[in-house]
Amino acid sequence: MLTIIIGPSGVGKNSVIDVLMKKYPNLQYLKAVTTRAKREGERDAYIHVSKKEFEKMIKDDVFFEYENVHADLMYGTIRSALEQIKATKRNYIKDLDVNGAIKVQNYLGKKNCKTVFLDAPNSVLYQRLKDRGESEEMIKVRMSRYEMERKCVDKFDFYIENIDLKDTVKQIEKAVGVKNLK
Ligand code: 5GP
Repeated sequence: MLTIIIGPSGVGKNSVIDVLMKKYPNLQYLKAVTTRAKREGERDAYIHVSKKEFEKMIKDDVFFEYENVHADLMYGTIRSALEQIKATKRNYIKDLDVNGAIKVQNYLGKKNCKTVFLDAPNSVLYQRLKDRGESEEMIKVRMSRYEMERKCVDKFDFYIENIDLKDTVKQIEKAVGVKNLK
């Protein structure tokens, strides 16, 4: 089973995932590939590659899906990793942008996938991006996607406002089911 966490940049997808992974040590993180540089202190969330390497991976059909999510930063889901989710009883978690999430949920189906859209007011999102150390330019780029992302909320299983992290985690456990996180 794969739980997908979706939502505007700055909403706290990674914080929520960090708490869940600490609470459920068997929960596996589905690693993806990105051309973005690693952030300081960031969990081992990605295989970080150059743009050229990413393009070669596209050619070699490594990805089930990939997106140019922010500016010219590329993010891709590895095809074989999704196959593994279908084949195993283990539970996985991953954050995806709206387009990637729709594709992956369609592919895995309801039995193998649950989708949670997290949201928060724009003023809260802005402050969180600033606190994370994003530049004003990058904040603008990330915020420019909010409208498009919110138009997709109906496509996902659950909608949760992430104001208080503890409360959000409780709501996710109830929505997705604890047995799917263990
Ligand atoms: P960040 O740079 O904050 O780690 O991620 C930026 C955005 O890319 C987030 O919305 C994140 O969920 C999304 N993302 C991460 N990995 C993938 C992926 O493999 N495919 C797609 N489509 N989006 C991804």
